[in-house]
Amino acid sequence: MQPESDAIGAEPQPATQLTVVYGPALLAYDFGPEHPFSAMRGRLTFELMRDTGLLDAPGVKVVAPVEADREELLTFHTKEYVDFVQNACVKGYGFLDGGDTPAFEGCFEAALNVVGSSLKAVDLVMTGQTKYAFLPVGGLHHGHPDRASGFCIFNDIAVCIKRLQAGYGLKRIAYVDMDAHHGDGVVYGFYDDPSVLTIDFHEDGRYLFPGTGELHETGRGSAVGTKINIPMPPYSSDQSFIYAFDEVVPAVIRQFKPDIIMLVCGVDSHGGDPLTDMNYSAASYLHAAGSLRGLAAELCQDRLIVWGAGGYDPATCAKCWTEVGAALAGYALPDFLPAAWRERYRNLTGEEAPVGLHENNTSDNTLQRVEKMVGWLKMKVLAF
Ligand SMILES: [Zn+2]
Repeated sequence: MQPESDAIGAEPQPATQLTVVYGPALLAYDFGPEHPFSAMRGRLTFELMRDTGLLDAPGVKVVAPVEADREELLTFHTKEYVDFVQNACVKGYGFLDGGDTPAFEGCFEAALNVVGSSLKAVDLVMTGQTKYAFLPVGGLHHGHPDRASGFCIFNDIAVCIKRLQAGYGLKRIAYVDMDAHHGDGVVYGFYDDPSVLTIDFHEDGRYLFPGTGELHETGRGSAVGTKINIPMPPYSSDQSFIYAFDEVVPAVIRQFKPDIIMLVCGVDSHGGDPLTDMNYSAASYLHAAGSLRGLAAELCQDRLIVWGAGGYDPATCAKCWTEVGAALAGYALPDFLPAAWRERYRNLTGEEAPVGLHENNTSDNTLQRVEKMVGWLKMKVLAF
């Protein structure tokens, strides 16, 4: 008779390496054909993951979206705001904020599905059913307790942090955000909470929405030093991002010793994005995901959740997020985009599809300015 385990006392390993939370319900989070946040981004991403074989790779699983309930929203959002969205959703028109985030029929349920899917990812990771979770649609980091902002109705990440704290008793949560826009909803939502470390790389707020996230914004009260903002100069490329990331993130995260790591992998900081002035390539996202994967293994039992968040060039979203997913799964992707996916891309966008899947590193002339900011952070904020 064979023993059930050949290593007595060994930690049980999760059967799943990477869980992708995705399904048609998430595509309902769509502000319409004239709006940059369309369902096409998520759909083309999922289809590229499928067509490259990633979703059939060993240890990769797809889990369907789940709808959150009102009570879960109320752990971060105010009752008045939740009521307001529910009413606006019934009407199906008007704006939920100053003019970027229109209401649409079904928007309340669509937003509930985004939040519920992120909570599902938290549960799968925290119960050890998967090492990593990836949500191509989600990471609505501009949502505030009492208002929508920047295409974000409810802040799924903030609701996840609340569950990690109240439901799982976590005392140390690390959040890294490389979307081009400052993750203001998360950063200010926990600005005086020392148990939440935020490290936010974004295009300098003088040039891009929402205008916040200056270098000297480092947290309040007992949380001073747990909020790190790195406003990258416009046109920053892989060279500057990877330099700043390596100088700051591993040391700060090792010092903080998190119980879980979250990555907002918004690819609107990519050179191909139509809404920002940044110039990263896939190399930056792969670098961040790879480094955080290593830190999660070293510090927090592999617990890592990655959100797609922003990104408004559908081909860039599909390519970069598929590359990140493959890196987390340890899966080797083909060099060229599958013909079937390229055909679907042409049909959906009316444009010629790209050919290659991988990209080269980009360099820039912003490194000196980034070095100065990192120097200031090391001197004034970081104790190393
Ligand atoms: Zn963004």
